[in-house]
Amino acid sequence: MSEKEGKKLVIVGGVAAGATAAARARRLDERASITIVERGRYVSFANCGLPYFISRDIAKRSSLILQTPEGFFSRYAVEVLLESEALSIDREGRTVRLRDSEGERDLPYDSLILAQGGSPIDPPIPGIAAQNVFNLWTIPDMDGIHHFVEEHHAKSALVIGGGFVGLEAAEAFLKRGLAVSIVELTDHLMPPADPEFGAMIRELFRKEGARVEVGRSVTEIVSGRARLDDGREVPADLVLVAAGVRPNLALARAAGLAVGPAGGLVVDEHLRTSDPRIWAAGDMIEVIHRVSGRSVRLPLAGPANRQGRIAATNALGGSMSYRGALGTTILKVLDGAFAMTGLSTASAREAGFDVRAATVHRAHHVTYFPGAEEVSLKLIYDGDSRRLLGAQAFGRAGVDKRIDVAATALAGELTIDDLSELDLAYAPPFGAANDPLNMAAFAAQNDLSGYSPALDAGTAWTRIAAGDAVALDVRTLGEHLAAPIPGTLHIPLDEVADRLDELSRDREIIVISEDGYAGHVALRRLAQSGFDQVEYVAGGVRSLALLPEFKFGEQE
Ligand SMILES: Cc1cc2nc3c(=O)[nH]c(=O)nc-3n(C[C@H](O)[C@H](O)[C@H](O)COP(=O)(O)OP(=O)(O)OC[C@H]3O[C@@H](n4cnc5c(N)ncnc54)[C@H](O)[C@@H]3O)c2cc1C
Repeated sequence: MSEKEGKKLVIVGGVAAGATAAARARRLDERASITIVERGRYVSFANCGLPYFISRDIAKRSSLILQTPEGFFSRYAVEVLLESEALSIDREGRTVRLRDSEGERDLPYDSLILAQGGSPIDPPIPGIAAQNVFNLWTIPDMDGIHHFVEEHHAKSALVIGGGFVGLEAAEAFLKRGLAVSIVELTDHLMPPADPEFGAMIRELFRKEGARVEVGRSVTEIVSGRARLDDGREVPADLVLVAAGVRPNLALARAAGLAVGPAGGLVVDEHLRTSDPRIWAAGDMIEVIHRVSGRSVRLPLAGPANRQGRIAATNALGGSMSYRGALGTTILKVLDGAFAMTGLSTASAREAGFDVRAATVHRAHHVTYFPGAEEVSLKLIYDGDSRRLLGAQAFGRAGVDKRIDVAATALAGELTIDDLSELDLAYAPPFGAANDPLNMAAFAAQNDLSGYSPALDAGTAWTRIAAGDAVALDVRTLGEHLAAPIPGTLHIPLDEVADRLDELSRDREIIVISEDGYAGHVALRRLAQSGFDQVEYVAGGVRSLALLPEFKFGEQE
């Protein structure tokens, strides 16, 4: 390579990671020759925005196309080859073989970045190849769905898969006036989340009239309907398959690049593959989870963009490290939102932590200021080190703030004690003097120290149902009568101190309140009166009601 010519950088894949890498590369090196090879018809489009065009929240299709080949060339002098597929890599000769409308040819490189993303998985369901069955992954997919709904006057949509793409699509179909069914194979919507958050999301969809089937699969798609594994049928003028994503690894595998235990391309901290001339970024790679330290695949746009930036820097001779990802995700759910960061309870257990959790249901700002909405917030932490492991939140407002603070806390490896002292922005329209994050951290501290032991709703209900403990309902009379809980002793919080003789000191007492807080207050009252086997239900009735096995009694 002559000094004059500059480095030849080839990037395979031109959307999130690839387009970012190209723009960054040009900012770093004016002389480099930069080429994007993209097999699709579009470069740099907003795949995250696709559901919002179907819902008509985004009216202008063109606003989803962030760059064109002409735009890339005029702004960055980057050559974009559309509808060009990279077929193979000659690592010795440093060329990529391409196929486009004119045939096949070799493109030489000095540095190569793979940013090929993933492709939707289509489960082997009879009928899945029919005309009315779609994925939602590309602009042509979106166009196909949009036109199908218009032209065929579709009245019903079946969404296979209750992860974030499926749920965003389901919401879009509801907004377009279709009758929606969502079928999810695992036992709750949004499988990476804890089950109670899946239940909260399910309730919102049910309220909007969607049919939600969890723990079920689709066994056959026939014209206008689909059959479930229990033999029932659901209407399905249109079917959307959102059953997961598989990384596009054929090219890398054929070139002999190492694939890791999580099923993604292996890269080092500089995002270099097992070939020193090839870097990779985005959905196709596996990365280190910043909490568990394990190799994982976290196919999300934020990490893909940041990795693209780092890969470009290193491919042009720089040295930037990627520290790993947290899997921070947020999802608009009808008029609510769900967000999570770090490990779920299940993934934290699997990673071997001493998993504890604190749940609170608190107003997102003080209740005396108009517009307060409840945020359900769960902090998952390690009982040994007291380190925060993950957080999940659901509500109509303030969800993003809590999860972004928790994500920052995870990046800083903060403990629940650090969280209890976080000095967060407060004025009545914005928060509370003790933010829900502070409150959840207080609950965690109180539990760990034994000052106020909490039981998660599932454990508490199992013990209560088995008759292992006395269930003490301390809600107000009105709350108790409106939603009675069978098998409980009802003593409102304000009467507990005067009615201690109704309680046995020899039996375990589990205190139930509306949202958990009054349970903690009652527990402290009992503890100071000599009761030493008392716990309260974290999140109270709000959390109990989300358990599939929980049922309220008959109203009196
Ligand atoms: C509907 C939808 C909504 C989403 N919403 C969100 C969201 O709200 N938040 C979030 O964080 N993430 C979201 N995502 C995920 C996010 O879009 C991806 O994580 C991100 O796009 C990954 O970037 P990438 O560059 O790795 O892959 P992609 O953006 O998928 O780009 C890979 C490109 O490589 C091309 N390619 C593959 N193989 C070849 C080859 N051999 N030759 C040439 N080209 C090739 C493909 O055609 C593709 O265009 C969403 C995804 C979808 C589909």
